[in-house]
Amino acid sequence: MKEAPCHFVRPFLDRFGDLYPCCFVNMKPEFKIGSVDDEDLLDKMYSYDKACQCGFLKFRKWQKGDKLNLLNIQTSLSCHGKCAVCYVSAPLKKENIELDYEKAYNFLEKLNPNVLYYEGGEVPIQKKALEFVAQVKKGIAPQKLHLLTNGCYNTNTAKTLSDMFTDFTVSYMGISKNTYYHETMLDVDVTKNFSVEVHRRTGKIGFRYICTPLTMIEAGDFLDFAAGFKDSHVIYADCDINSYAKEPRAIPYWSQVIRRCQLRFKESLLTNREKLLQFNFKVKFEPRTAGLLGVSKELVDKFKIPNVDFY
Ligand code: SF4
Ligand code: SF4
Repeated sequence: MKEAPCHFVRPFLDRFGDLYPCCFVNMKPEFKIGSVDDEDLLDKMYSYDKACQCGFLKFRKWQKGDKLNLLNIQTSLSCHGKCAVCYVSAPLKKENIELDYEKAYNFLEKLNPNVLYYEGGEVPIQKKALEFVAQVKKGIAPQKLHLLTNGCYNTNTAKTLSDMFTDFTVSYMGISKNTYYHETMLDVDVTKNFSVEVHRRTGKIGFRYICTPLTMIEAGDFLDFAAGFKDSHVIYADCDINSYAKEPRAIPYWSQVIRRCQLRFKESLLTNREKLLQFNFKVKFEPRTAGLLGVSKELVDKFKIPNVDFY
């Protein structure tokens, strides 16, 4: 496992103004580095130490020469989606907590990050958050302003957001109208049109396809849709499917379903082989998702499938 100072790779500033080494350990108080209320938050980052390991990294302390990669900012949980799998439980929360933008801005001035990655909730429906993005863009001027969104907005909003953000990651939970609706209570056609418009304006787009028990069967259909987006990528993301069905492969029903998903996904990878190359479209897998979808380095090499990466 690669060792890295996680809190300089992708630190996470939550809506309470608390800083964590990454979004996975957010809400675990023992991992908190400090708060935007702390004058010495930057010093706390340099001296922070915590034993931790996950599927992506093994934590090590900051060393001389380590530079901050990006900062992940959560503005508030306000959201128009109702995703069944929401990892921040936004649809269930009645709270109205929003980042203290003045204090966050002061911290950003000291930190001076190159890349800012915004997430909510849904930032595009949060008026103050959008004002904050505009203020940061003008005053701190990072190289990249990245938005993580469900992308369920009309094309006029796509235009406004494309003028504001440099990079987009649009999450999908299914690609058929029915599956997407039952996962999110939103309309996938709106999200598809938004994606097309953002891509048309920025020349690239990132997708995050969340594999749930309902959506994994459409992982191949999603690739059929996405592979034609030039200079773009999809990350097949893990929603910890094992926590939805205990030992799914040990249950005959699930092993049948998973096997059929894998066959369909392999078929889509083979069908889209030329497109992946022609459109420079990359396919990436989070650690457990590759196994779930039956994709391995051996399979990729055997069938000479281009542009596939494993974390
Ligand atoms: S090891 Fe993984 S979970 Fe732990 S702090 Fe680093 S990125 Fe986060
Ligand atoms: S769009 Fe994101 S924040 Fe909103 S309910 Fe879905 S997962 Fe949660």
